Amino acid sequence: MKTDELVQLTKELIQINSINPWLIPSEAGETELASHIANWLKCLPLEVNLEEVEGGRCNLIARLPGSGGGKSLCLYAHLDTVGCELWKDRAFSPRLENDRLYGLGAADDKGHCAIAMLVIKSLVEHASPLRGDVWLALLMDEEGTSSGTMHFVEHHRPDATLVLEPAGLGNIVITHQGFGWLDIIVKGRAAHGCAPEKGIDAIVHMAEVITRLHRLDREVFASSPHPLNDKTVFHTSLISGGTDYATYPAECILGIEIGTQPGETIANRVAEIEDIFRQVENLHPDFQGEVRVKLARDPFEACGHEDLWAILSAEVERVIGRPAKAVGENAWGDAALFQQAGIPTLMLGAYGENFHAPDEWVAIPELIQLGEILESTILKFCS
Ligand SMILES: [Zn+2]
Repeated sequence: MKTDELVQLTKELIQINSINPWLIPSEAGETELASHIANWLKCLPLEVNLEEVEGGRCNLIARLPGSGGGKSLCLYAHLDTVGCELWKDRAFSPRLENDRLYGLGAADDKGHCAIAMLVIKSLVEHASPLRGDVWLALLMDEEGTSSGTMHFVEHHRPDATLVLEPAGLGNIVITHQGFGWLDIIVKGRAAHGCAPEKGIDAIVHMAEVITRLHRLDREVFASSPHPLNDKTVFHTSLISGGTDYATYPAECILGIEIGTQPGETIANRVAEIEDIFRQVENLHPDFQGEVRVKLARDPFEACGHEDLWAILSAEVERVIGRPAKAVGENAWGDAALFQQAGIPTLMLGAYGENFHAPDEWVAIPELIQLGEILESTILKFCS
């Protein structure tokens, strides 16, 4: 695989805005990028489809049909990126400095879209036909609600999937945390500021909840991290409450992000929060709290991946010269959705930095090595 071809292609993908409109509603989304890639793939003997998921937003699915009787493998990367408010002057102007390619989505996940495209192209041009199908799934909405992957697994069923995300070469991700976006709603009672006997201060009650959530994070989550996925994620995200300076606040709403570990669901976290409510209620009998789950995704734990692991880990070791390491992540990736659909899944990818932040970059030499690993893994797995 040629470095200049990879750099050129990744630059092209970075230049096309595909900011997720679920995150930033004024943005157009992934469609232009998906069409551009569909055009690029047109000259290859692939079945290429733009599958609409919602509101005109598409997944790009390509399949290199096998001759039959072999196992199929899917290469996944995502088309969308987060926003770039803090560096919009340069986010869409990719630049190569030494071995690093800078630009919005360079590592997360356009460099991985590009290398997956080049692997398929190389297979078409150089390999003798495989028995199993090779899928390229470049999907939308990973940075939002993962609707692209949910749509894909409803309609397609490869025998295994490799999720390409910037994990750093040598690492193979076999587990990651799930997460929930929760609203905690505390009710008070509005009253004149000079009528403490009538008012119930929802913000003061919320402060008691926040203090205990912070303690749960420090004392429970921090003292019992998952061996691979690290400490369970927790942070506060949004807060609102009250109407004016002169009135007791009748409501306070706190948005939080909170993680789940393998074996847990968001119900475990909700139960902990409800336990905190009971503690605050003991202190303030007029306390009233409620938890609303806005979005929840279960954690990822690879299963049935032994054949794929054996081939992939051997290829990683051959290419980078050291053994592959089974790792976990505290962040969510779409791997969990493939695995939940019964598709054995592993995650790997090139090294990069500054994801979701200014001056994101990806290490081009690692993408090239990743391409070599993917191509030889496909040749063995799908033969
Ligand atoms: Zn990503």
